[in-house]
Amino acid sequence: MNQHELIIIGSGPAGLTAAIYAARADLAPVVFEGSNPGGQLMGTSGVENFPGFPDGIMGPKLMMNMREQAQNFGATTITKMIRKVDFSDPKNLKVWAGEEEFAAKTVIIATGASARWLDFMGDKDKKISHEKKYWGKGYTACATCDGAFFRNKVVCVAGGGDSACEEAHFLTKFASKVYIIHRRDELRASKPMQKRVLEHEKIEILWNQNISAIYGEKIVEGIELTHSITGEVTKQDLSAVFVAIGHIPNTKFLGEDLELLPNRFIKVTNHTKTNIESVFVGGDVSDHHYQQAITAAGSGCMAAMDAESYLSQ
Ligand code: NAP
Repeated sequence: MNQHELIIIGSGPAGLTAAIYAARADLAPVVFEGSNPGGQLMGTSGVENFPGFPDGIMGPKLMMNMREQAQNFGATTITKMIRKVDFSDPKNLKVWAGEEEFAAKTVIIATGASARWLDFMGDKDKKISHEKKYWGKGYTACATCDGAFFRNKVVCVAGGGDSACEEAHFLTKFASKVYIIHRRDELRASKPMQKRVLEHEKIEILWNQNISAIYGEKIVEGIELTHSITGEVTKQDLSAVFVAIGHIPNTKFLGEDLELLPNRFIKVTNHTKTNIESVFVGGDVSDHHYQQAITAAGSGCMAAMDAESYLSQ
């Protein structure tokens, strides 16, 4: 079995910042970075609000810089998913990557959150989930990855938060028209973001609408909309649906030992501490409010300092 001072699960800004701090403190951290190293920013384009980059920086570049920085200070990165943990003994924490078992005196959970899906069945009679049927065929959650496929096409973004507005604005680079489909009559996004989409000539918001089905022979050719107040059903021809309706914390693998909030985010007390004295948390997996790269990085730093302080006692 592999025994370590500190295991970090997750490789977004929180996990990698924790790794940089822990490596500099000679804790020789081992980072399990999952199957897609770098976390959510790997699927974004330019990041303009991470301090230190006056002209912005591409999300993947920022994450690979953090990874390299952590490795340069002595962190070990392992490109594997942790599927199971056993935190029943706080002095001997165990995690499993496949069949392989690793043990540590401390663990930092920094597994972030994943995109939420719309969860509509589409074709109830045939029991076909349209989300599964059209996934990768015009139905996606990543404008940065797939936007360029829809040059001069009509597309839509589902959601009314900052992500939806940001995605819609990004898509105007390629698409001839971008609909924002929002279930209410008011956006949740920040005021500057609202202004950006409301004033954009290529963007139109369809208020009080839910996507209830997708149609198309093999790929997305349009959507069926159901009005959230009147129930009226209408159709809209378009080529792609981008979903941007928030995130679900990646806590499923944690089992029963760690205390979670009702919304499944990890419950923290005193900054990064959990109900288990040797397990700490950083980033979106416990943050359902700020969810920013810089706040995740900050809390990753705090988690590493708390783990170090625990180990030195
Ligand atoms: P969010 O703020 O939680 O917004 C989710 C949106 O999706 C809401 O408008 C919500 O509608 C809608 N929604 C949720 N479930 C739905 C469903 N089942 N069907 C239809 N619509 C649904 O999530 P987010 O936009 O991903 O943002 C998360 C956090 O990251 C926020 O704090 C945000 O400020 C931040 N963020 C910041 C930036 C930036 O500053 N550049 C960019 C992206 C995200 P309701 O409004 O009706 O609830």
